[in-house]
Amino acid sequence: MIIQAMRLDIHNLPKTDLPLIPGVPVRCDPFCIEEQLPYVITEPCIGVKDKSCIEVCPVKCIATDENEEMYFIDPVACINCGYCEPVCPINAIFDEFQLPPDQRIYLRKNREFYEK
Ligand code: SF4
Ligand code: SF4
Repeated sequence: MIIQAMRLDIHNLPKTDLPLIPGVPVRCDPFCIEEQLPYVITEPCIGVKDKSCIEVCPVKCIATDENEEMYFIDPVACINCGYCEPVCPINAIFDEFQLPPDQRIYLRKNREFYEK
């Protein structure tokens, strides 16, 4: 919960007041909504949906519905713990910094699921 609060604080700051801490990466541009997702579920999940990730997520922020072919991570609720990434049997979950270029569209797809 502390990590989530820090992320929200950063996003509420004017751009000129961004805290610049040497050695601590700023995960994203606070004005770029596309980047506000620490972990991302990507294309390989389509048609698999085996639920391994949701079983380990401590804040239950991974979900789907009957109309979707894959699961999605809630960018607001995710606490960036990383528990979900290694349990996916088909390596469909990536830290945003490790996301393959051809899978960056899933940043938007994960977020949009929770905006419906
Ligand atoms: S990083 Fe942690 S909180 Fe975020 S989706 Fe994965 S298990 Fe859940
Ligand atoms: S563990 Fe991987 S394949 Fe299974 S539901 Fe989660 S993201 Fe999809």
